[in-house]
Order: sequence, then C-alpha cells, then structure tokens
Amino acid sequence: MNLLEPSNAVFLTGLLVFYGIRAVFARRAKGEAIAVSRFDRREKLLLAAMFPPTLLLPLLYLFTPLLTFADYRLPPPLTWSGLPLLLGSLWLFYRSHADLGRNWSVSVELREDHQLVTHGVYRFIRHPMYAAIWLWCFAQGLLLQNWLAGWSLLPVFAVLYLLRLPREEQLMHEQFGDAYREYSQRTGRVVPKIWR
Ligand code: SAH
Repeated sequence: MNLLEPSNAVFLTGLLVFYGIRAVFARRAKGEAIAVSRFDRREKLLLAAMFPPTLLLPLLYLFTPLLTFADYRLPPPLTWSGLPLLLGSLWLFYRSHADLGRNWSVSVELREDHQLVTHGVYRFIRHPMYAAIWLWCFAQGLLLQNWLAGWSLLPVFAVLYLLRLPREEQLMHEQFGDAYREYSQRTGRVVPKIWR
C-alpha cells in the first residue's frame, strides 16, 4: 500500500479533485446539443490511450505491489516540487472549465450556438485546459516515484496534444474566421505571449 508515502496520498487527493472538477462540468455541458463533431476513430483511440497512464497505472501503483519493479527514489525537495505543479494544474483545470462553460467538449466538437471564449484564462492562452494537463504530467512524474505510473502520461498526452491541436484550431478557424485569427495573434497556445 503505497499510500503511506505522503507524496502518494497528496497525488491521490489531487486525482480525486481533478476528476471531481471534470465530472461537475461535464454534467453541466451534457444537455448542450452538438452541432459539429470530429470525434472520429482516431480521437476515440487517443482518448482510450489516456486511460492507462491517467488512471490504471497510478491506481495499480498506489494500491498493489505489481509495479514495484519500476520504483525509484527522488530527493524529497524534487518530489515536493510536484506539489505547486499539482496545485497550479488543478486551479487552471477548474478555471478553464468555468470559463469555457457550455462550450466544453471531451473531443473536437462545436455545440449549438457555440461561442468563442476569449475571457478569463482564455485571455492569455488558447489552450489552458491542455496547459493544466501538461502541468499535471510533470506533477504526476515527480510525486509518484515509479517510472511507469509517474511518467507514462507525458508521452501519451504529447501525442494527443500534437495530433489534436491542429484539428481543434482548424475547426475554430472555420467557425470563427477573423475573430479566431485575431485572437490567435494575441495569445499563445499554452504559454502567454508576454512579450507583446
Ligand atoms: N483546447 C481548449 C479547450 C479544450 S475542450 C483548452 O485547452 O482550454 C475542447 C473543445 O473546446 C473543442 O471541442 C473546441 O470546440 C472548444 N474550444 C477550444 N477553444 C475554444 C475557445 N476559445 N472558445 C470556445 N470553444 C473553444
């Protein structure tokens, strides 16, 4: 039972908050009709590929001895540098869901009467929800000291991000035209354009 390790208990608490946030907002958006969907086979495969590194491997690591062969030890200050990343990720994950509101989808989709959101955290970056997941990837790696449970999410999410982002931005361009072009010019994808 790896939960006696404080960094593991902190991670599990964060994981529950993460899925709690998602569950609340997914339920709110559920009634909103989908107007355009690009939730194709590739998207479904990518989402399915996220299940082992986000949930299955961390839970196996936390509750069973099956993954002990991949354990390692980090110096405590390095382990705990995952905590601010975890907190930052949860804050950004919550804010981006709150700001995106009824326009949120688990995949590349447009809701009926979809609005372009450029306020709140979307004022600074176009993909705050993905930025939150990038932060989470590093928090998970630092807090869970196991190569598989800790670091498998990073490459899997990198593939999802790189494949999905162009399609999502393409859809936004098709739908919002100049407004999205202008919005893209003044914002960064996951890092604010502070030099502007
Ligand atoms: N990529 C964004 C949103 C992820 S949710 C982020 O990381 O915060 C995915 C859905 O959000 C997509 O189906 C797309 O339709 C929608 N979306 C992305 N950016 C948006 C924006 N600025 N305004 C409204 N909807 C947006």
